[in-house]
Amino acid sequence: MSDDKVVKSDAEWRAVLSPGTYRIMREQGTEPAFTGQYWDNHDKGIYVCAACGNPLFSSDQKFDSGTGWPSFTAPLKPGAVDEKKDSSHFMTRTEIVCHKCGGHLGHVFDDGPAPTGQRFCMNSAALKFEKK
Ligand SMILES: [Zn+2]
Repeated sequence: MSDDKVVKSDAEWRAVLSPGTYRIMREQGTEPAFTGQYWDNHDKGIYVCAACGNPLFSSDQKFDSGTGWPSFTAPLKPGAVDEKKDSSHFMTRTEIVCHKCGGHLGHVFDDGPAPTGQRFCMNSAALKFEKK
């Protein structure tokens, strides 16, 4: 199994990502609720990283959280994403980043439904949907 990390300079990321995706993935931004492409997407398929194409989430783990962001109970497979402690905005949250490129995806909360009880709250702009 290959575990190649995708490493680019800030200028390189700026050149390949759209401004909206750059702001979220490289500057830890958050898109406004109910504005993204995927919060209400019910098609079957795989969500890959918008920056590097790493497969991150499946429609099988997607659920309607009511938050206006695409939400999942688990990543596609263990190790697809990494967790980081985020103490910005006077809160302690757990940030979720792409394992391969380190790009910011969103946060995980422990108020999700069964079976995991977790809610991976992601930004649409950090994901690219590949319909099955
Ligand atoms: Zn990535």
